[in-house]
Amino acid sequence: MTDRLVGGVDLGATNLRAAVADGEGSLLCRVQTATPDGDGAAITAAVVDTLEEACAAANVACDELSAVGVGAIGPLDLAAGAADSPPNVAAEWVPLVDPLETRCDCAAVLVNDCVAGAIGERYFAEGGSDLVYVTLSTGVGAGAVVDGRPLRGHRGNAAEMGHVVVEPGGRACGCGGVGHWEAYAGGRAIPGFARELAAETAVDTDLSPATLDARTVLESTDRLAERVRDRLGTYNTVGIAATVHAFDPTEVVVGGAVARNNPTAVLEPVRERLPGMLAVETPPVRLTGLGEDAVLSGAVAAALTGGTGDPDGSPDAGVSE
Ligand SMILES: [Zn+2]
Repeated sequence: MTDRLVGGVDLGATNLRAAVADGEGSLLCRVQTATPDGDGAAITAAVVDTLEEACAAANVACDELSAVGVGAIGPLDLAAGAADSPPNVAAEWVPLVDPLETRCDCAAVLVNDCVAGAIGERYFAEGGSDLVYVTLSTGVGAGAVVDGRPLRGHRGNAAEMGHVVVEPGGRACGCGGVGHWEAYAGGRAIPGFARELAAETAVDTDLSPATLDARTVLESTDRLAERVRDRLGTYNTVGIAATVHAFDPTEVVVGGAVARNNPTAVLEPVRERLPGMLAVETPPVRLTGLGEDAVLSGAVAAALTGGTGDPDGSPDAGVSE
């Protein structure tokens, strides 16, 4: 198996990453660029180009890859092999599977980016057969492995937990909904939420609401920042409690830049409050050990395992065409 080469792609709202890995999942090289702010064709082209760049850096021809895994922002249309109107980019329709299969002449396995995260935790971190991966990134999402199977759902959008309502009648979400978890706790939403909170409550603050960014909100000892963090802690706990109730995991693994850059500020309130919101046993909540490559590694693991992430399974067992 070690002479096998696979490709992995992490298509996020902000960053696009690609890698070539060997048959054990070790990354031979990785390439990162900004996700283009263009239409679907521009993003598709960037995905193929970035994987080609990774292949070139590894001195591998694209058609030498035996499979390519893609973890992409959703919503997905798995049957069409595309992302369908992702709320955090301008593009409406982003073909992924066909262009990659054509370029690499091998199967491309498409999963939601958080499902890739869950597959990566199962494969590389021995996460076991029941786990959830939650991303707190530009947006918010989750992926679940249940009874040893990564859940995909009808169109590939199972466990889209970022769009559960945490505040009925609350803030507008990029998806068009209202009061969704992502509308508060996504990195793109945090500054706006902080400004609204500053305007509607009389908090003695030295911060300038107009120039607030997510980093300041998550790191500052200012009272407004603390107030925002307290609310975010509640929303994150509500979202994670719903995720635990839905999927009954042995652990909750959290990734995404918002969590990775501020693990104590983000995760401690959840650990404190989660038992009070659960009707079931509280699972441990931990930060991913795979860092910023959690989804990219998961995409590689999806390619190696045909999408199951099972480190002991047959490499082709999960491919269903
Ligand atoms: Zn939403």
